[in-house]
Order: sequence, then C-alpha cells, then structure tokens
Amino acid sequence: MRIVVLGGGPGGHSAAFEAARLGASVTLIEREFLGGTCLNWGCIPTKTILRSARVAWDARNAADYGLRLPVADVDEERLLDRKEGVVQELRSQLEATAARLKVELVYGEGRLVGPKTVRVTDSEKHTDHTADALILATGSEVFKLPGIDHTLERVWTSYEATSVLATPTSILIVGAGAIGLEFACAYASFGAEVHVVELMPSVLPGNDKRVQKAAQAALEAMGVRFYLGQAADAVGQYGDRMETTMPDGTIIETDYVLSAVGRKPLSEGFGFPEAGIEMERAAVKVDEHFRTSVPGVYAVGDLVGGMMLAHAAEEEGATAARNAVREHARASVETLPAGLAHAADLESVDYSCIPACVYTFPEIAVVGSSRDAAKDAGLDVVQAVSKYAGNGKALSEGEAEGFVQMVAEKGSGRVVGCQIVGPHAVETIHEVAVAKRHGLTVRDIAETVHAHPSVSEVIKLAALDAAGKCGI
Ligand SMILES: Cc1cc2nc3c(=O)[nH]c(=O)nc-3n(C[C@H](O)[C@H](O)[C@H](O)COP(=O)(O)OP(=O)(O)OC[C@H]3O[C@@H](n4cnc5c(N)ncnc54)[C@H](O)[C@@H]3O)c2cc1C
Repeated sequence: MRIVVLGGGPGGHSAAFEAARLGASVTLIEREFLGGTCLNWGCIPTKTILRSARVAWDARNAADYGLRLPVADVDEERLLDRKEGVVQELRSQLEATAARLKVELVYGEGRLVGPKTVRVTDSEKHTDHTADALILATGSEVFKLPGIDHTLERVWTSYEATSVLATPTSILIVGAGAIGLEFACAYASFGAEVHVVELMPSVLPGNDKRVQKAAQAALEAMGVRFYLGQAADAVGQYGDRMETTMPDGTIIETDYVLSAVGRKPLSEGFGFPEAGIEMERAAVKVDEHFRTSVPGVYAVGDLVGGMMLAHAAEEEGATAARNAVREHARASVETLPAGLAHAADLESVDYSCIPACVYTFPEIAVVGSSRDAAKDAGLDVVQAVSKYAGNGKALSEGEAEGFVQMVAEKGSGRVVGCQIVGPHAVETIHEVAVAKRHGLTVRDIAETVHAHPSVSEVIKLAALDAAGKCGI
C-alpha cells in the first residue's frame, strides 16, 4: 500500500512513521523543516527559552536560597544558539527515523491536483505523487488581529519571539492563553517590564477558575501586569517605541508588542476544497476516525482544529495511519499487517485523557474535566484539593505555591479530571492521565505508595481525600 503524507509536523511525521512501521510505502512531503511548528517555532524553542528564563529567575532569587549571585544578563546570541542546537538535534533525529523506516522525504510545497494526487513544487520542477491513501497534516498559522499591523518591525508573533536576536526590556503581549503566558513568564524572568492584555475577563480562557486565578497571581508576583477584559485597540510604532491604546484610553509604551491571540488551520491554496474535501472555515472536516469527505483521504493535527496540541496531533497522526491501512486492507481484501492483527476496527482518540500544559513558573497541567465542566455534563462528582504548602519536596525546592485539584465520580470513585498548578505539574499529571485512561479510581491512586519526598505526594493526598468524599 502507498501512503502520501502532506506536512512534516508532529501530526504528519507520526502518521508517516506509523504507516511505514505497518509496512506501507510512504512519502512525506514538507515545504520547510521536519518537525513543523512544534519543533521549529513552538513547543521546543519556547521550552528552551523558558529553561534559560528559569536560570535567570533562580539567579534573581538566589538570595532566598542562601546564595550570592549577580543578576543574569541575557546573551541573546548564545541563548538562540542553544535553542538552534536543540532544534537541529531533534530535527536530525527525525530525519534518521525517516531513513531507518524508509520513509521517502520530499521537500517542496504540496498541492492537491486530484483526490489522491499531490503536486510538489520546488524551485525547479513539479512532481506528482499519487497514493492509495493521503494524510493531510499542514498544521496551522498565526492568527493575526486585523487591528494590529504585522508589517511593523516591533510587532512580533511567536515566530519572531523564538527567532529574533533581541530581548525586550519592555513588552506588551496581546493574549493571555498558554503561549502569551509562557512568553510573559520568560520575559519577566529576564527582567523585562511585561504587560498582558486579554479580551476575556480572565487569563487562560476556558480553564477552571481556581487555575486561572493561581496562574494570574503567580505571574503578578513576578511583576507581570494584566489588563483583563481589555483590547489592544490601536497599536502604533514611533521610532523605537510601540504605543498601545486600550478602549478605556490607557496608553502603554513598550519596546515590542507580541501578538499571541491564537492560531488557525493552514489550508488556503492547497487545493483541498477543489479536490472535493469538505471544509469548516479554514479547518478540514473529519469524522472521529480522521476521514475527510473524500474516501481514502484523512486529515489530522492543527489542520482539523480541536485541541491544537503537538501530542494530540501525534496521536491523531498515528491513529489516522492505522485507520488508512485498515481501510485499504478491507477494500482490497488483504490481510491486516501483524501490527494491526489484534484489532480490525477503526480507531478514534480519547481527548478526555490528553493532558494540556502551560510551562510557566509554577507549571500548570490539566487532564479530563474540572468539577464545573463535569457537572455541566451531568456527572455527579466530588472535588478534593490538596496544596503544596505542606509538601516537603516543594518546600525544600522553594516552590510551595499551588495545588492539586482532583475530580472523581461520586459512588464509583473513578477519576474524572485533575488540575495541577505547582512544581513539576507537567510531569506529575501523567499518573492521573494513566488512571483516567484505564478507568482507575482515586482509591487506586491513593493506595499506590509515592516516594518521599516527592511533589507527587500531593496527588496522593488529593486522591485520598477524594476517595473519602466518594465513600470508597
Ligand atoms: C509558540 C508556540 C508554542 C507551543 N507550545 C506547545 C507546547 O508546549 N505543547 C504542545 O503540545 N503544543 C504546543 N504548541 C502547538 C503545537 O506546535 C501544534 O499543536 C503542533 O505543531 C501541531 O502539529 P501539526 O503537525 O498539526 O502542524 P505543524 O506543526 O504546524 O506542522 C505542519 C507542517 O506542514 C508543513 N506544510 C504546510 N503546508 C504545506 C504544504 N502545502 N506542503 C508541504 N508542507 C506543508 C509546514 O511547513 C509544517 O512543517 C505551540 C505552538 C506555538 C506556536
């Protein structure tokens, strides 16, 4: 079977690698760099910069740990070199995996010229690639507010913020979602004056209220100033200064403005609707098995909207690849490859078990539903909250702010969701994700011995409390 994958980000490369592991002959088409937004301008560059920010923040607060250190001075060149080194290393590992799995890599921009034919254009020539199945994974692009002139040199998006050799001494960030808050945290750690404007009345719109409040308080404690329920009405550049005016007349002057108001699926000009693929605005419409309206054509990742996270895209990509192989085997009366022999049914992704994380100081990680969302969905739930303030490891590390909020189903005690704001939240959320994925109860978590001292003990305590409230 022959599969063509369009787009080499997390959705596309995981689809290509999974299909190749299942024995398909695979071509992966990428117009820029393998790894996509995530590796080149998103997840990895921001976390690399945040690591430097953490060192700077710790140096700034060294006296609290009994150390005398000078305040860190940012060396932009070395900081960006380090980021580039990490990106290159991961990119070359992806290329090595492609080579090992015999995935053909084709560089150039792809466009559909038939339901299952992609025409790739590079500077010199066109080549057509026809397949039994096609997996679309062209990702997303920065959403640009019409009121902000992005041609101004000092108006940044996450792209410039992860690639330009400059550290602002003052910045106004538009948007208090995960990306906006991570940059706010990084720049505040480097010593910049940071302002964040958000149209909604709270930071991290859509999240649990306690999480929102804790995130805002933590960043305010770092010096970040929030303007919630406000809009960046007019943004102008005057020499080296940016001036942002808000509807109430407040004017904020900064070095830079960073627009972080979200992303939208990248689909325009790639021939999708012309090939008969049904769209929902910029997103490709798919069913729960990632099938588009054209048989044999699948779509995954940011292109289909939804969670718009790298690990969600990866899971969707691998799932779509398995579904494509299954459907092709079914249609051609071939036997399923060994890797799929155990399950002939088409797969979907359980989004309720996928964690979503924000890498601020402290980190934030959530999985499943909050108490309010669960109640809105008609579930009878209990909630237990345990704080890091009494946790030995968190106190030793000087990071005893935050909490674990565990939500469980009354009666059964099954894990429904968990919200963590606290040290290492991004790592510790996974034990709850495993519990939720496998229908375990809060009692199961509570009865598992957690190492002492560890910040995970707070999860155990929250689970124990929830088990009591559930009466199990
Ligand atoms: C600043 C920032 C920070 C982020 N941090 C995180 C994080 O910490 N954790 C997380 O889970 N997510 C994070 N994300 C989101 C994450 O990057 C995306 O959800 C993820 O990259 C989506 O993967 P994808 O494969 O769908 O798309 P992409 O990664 O966008 O990949 C699409 C690929 O397709 C290529 N392409 C597009 N059109 C064509 C074409 N016509 N022909 C050939 N190739 C084409 C592109 O060049 C690109 O390489 C972040 C995003 C940003 C911007």
